[in-house]
Amino acid sequence: MHTSRPAASPFQFSARDIVRRPGAQRLVSETFPAPAVLGTDVIGVPVGTDVTLDLSFESVQEGIWVSGTVNATATGECGRCLDEVRQDVAAPLQGLFEYPDVRRDDEDETSEDVFEFDGESLDLEELVRDAVVTNLPFTPLCGPDCPGLCDQCGARLADDPDHTHEVLDPRWSALQSLIDEKES
Ligand SMILES: [Zn+2]
Ligand SMILES: [Zn+2]
Repeated sequence: MHTSRPAASPFQFSARDIVRRPGAQRLVSETFPAPAVLGTDVIGVPVGTDVTLDLSFESVQEGIWVSGTVNATATGECGRCLDEVRQDVAAPLQGLFEYPDVRRDDEDETSEDVFEFDGESLDLEELVRDAVVTNLPFTPLCGPDCPGLCDQCGARLADDPDHTHEVLDPRWSALQSLIDEKES
């Protein structure tokens, strides 16, 4: 049999052995390098680093119910001091891969855990990506107490907590120039 599908993505898993067999279940444990960044603009799992999926594929009436965990390590930039942030991700995931011929009476836009399924292979990329992104911080921090950068010179305040700049109060400098005028 010929398929015109592009080269298999590591997120694609055959489910032929349990298709249309409600109650049948298969456990899947796979580790592979991320083919694309999983994450946001500020933090994500880099290309080529390990993504581990520990999943259960369960045949149900409407399709295949996928549940489990994705583990990976995300890297990003601290939102305050711009240092590198590394964060382990252990994201739960679950979704229903629905047979094309299933018509759901309760179809509504809120069922975001439902995915298309051609009856042969499960494409888990969107499910995994969503799970990872939901578990990443909106603003990554190198530590909860990161003091960030000095707004005067950009120095890292963590390296130099007592860091200050001599700032002349503008009122004093105005007064000083008055005195200077009188004395001249
Ligand atoms: Zn920081
Ligand atoms: Zn400074």
